[in-house]
Amino acid sequence: MKFDVLVVGAGLAGAAFAAALRGSRLKIGVVESRPPARPQGWDPRIYAISQANVAFLSQIGIWQHLDRSRMAPVYDMEIHGDSGGRLDFSAYDCGLRELAWILESSLMQHELWATIKRQHNVSLLCPAEPASLQQDASHATLSLKDGRQLEARLIVAADGRESWIRQAAGIQVRNTPYDEKGVVANFRCALPHRDTAFQWFRPDGVLAYLPLPDQQMSMVWSAPDALADELVALPPEALCARVAEAGGFRLGELELITPAAAFPLRLMRVNEVVRPRLALIGDAAHAIHPLSGHGINLGYQDARTLAAQLADLPDWRDPGDLSLLRAYARARAEETALLQYTTHGLNRLFKPANPLLAGLRNLGLNLTNQFPVLRNSLVRYAVSGHF
Ligand SMILES: Cc1cc2nc3c(=O)[nH]c(=O)nc-3n(C[C@H](O)[C@H](O)[C@H](O)COP(=O)(O)OP(=O)(O)OC[C@H]3O[C@@H](n4cnc5c(N)ncnc54)[C@H](O)[C@@H]3O)c2cc1C
Repeated sequence: MKFDVLVVGAGLAGAAFAAALRGSRLKIGVVESRPPARPQGWDPRIYAISQANVAFLSQIGIWQHLDRSRMAPVYDMEIHGDSGGRLDFSAYDCGLRELAWILESSLMQHELWATIKRQHNVSLLCPAEPASLQQDASHATLSLKDGRQLEARLIVAADGRESWIRQAAGIQVRNTPYDEKGVVANFRCALPHRDTAFQWFRPDGVLAYLPLPDQQMSMVWSAPDALADELVALPPEALCARVAEAGGFRLGELELITPAAAFPLRLMRVNEVVRPRLALIGDAAHAIHPLSGHGINLGYQDARTLAAQLADLPDWRDPGDLSLLRAYARARAEETALLQYTTHGLNRLFKPANPLLAGLRNLGLNLTNQFPVLRNSLVRYAVSGHF
């Protein structure tokens, strides 16, 4: 089978990239090892989606079809330091409708799949997994484990943090493990959250409560490995008590609605994002600490930027041309590096191993809180990608 573009991995980044090429003349193949599952009840993977990506998902026809009863806006945000520091953000003060939307990964995944399945220029190959990758001057050949041979002028690796394609291409990564896991669970709360997100920089990690509809919330606790394992092993009542106490009973007593799960955290930087006939997007290209809730937000912007480079190519232009791919890499370099260094720096700054910094970091939060211009600029950068 011959394609112009072959996308490996149809998670959120890969499926959004394929959907963003709906209007193009490119013939697209999508290779995915397993179809997405729709969990019973609430998905443990709940993400904060920025305004820039609400705009992107609207532009590709996804956002309008999402079930509003499963989504919550964030109007306010409270960030607490570990010794009295506090920073407040408000959409109203910044002239925004909301700071972000909170919704399930599977809700977006379901709609993205429904879209690419009926897209005239996409062939979805699932279940399918690559067995070998070869490249020559004019095309790349991907052999699948089931014996099929796929040819394409460009391969887009959207196959996640452990990217098979990235490894097959021999692209080096620099991993910095955090020795932490992101523990996620969903709760019903005794007190209303009023569409506010909360974050606490604690001596035992970073705890976040993200609002969900119907007085429910999603927790992400980036905790040292031993504590993360302990939290996941706790019986429901003990976990509720621990999480409510860690959040200062801000939302009162809690009731568990989705069992806890833990994901190992690391900073991952790749040496090359593009090669001739190859581009990496999403977690295949970067992994960051979840404290800023930006992982898939970066991935969606990768998908948007690369698709924009390719969408209106004239017939004579090769989509695997390195100069074209380099323009994509340049366009994404700044935001990716900024978020990697900021989240890494914040994680290090709030480690208990830095007691001398304790006063300074809490003072920093309080000072930022005193200067609305600085504070609101930070919000605008976080939600839209520019000041
Ligand atoms: C605890 C935690 C909380 C987070 N919270 C947030 C948040 O609030 N906001 C946010 O934006 N991000 C958040 N993230 C990050 C987010 O989960 C990831 O950035 C996002 O899922 C990456 O999407 P992706 O499509 O690039 O990769 P993936 O979701 O990993 O998708 C990769 C796809 O490729 C497929 N695949 C893999 N290997 C192969 C193969 N060999 N052949 C075929 N198919 C293959 C997989 O089946 C999968 O469908 C969080 C992460 C963690 C760990």
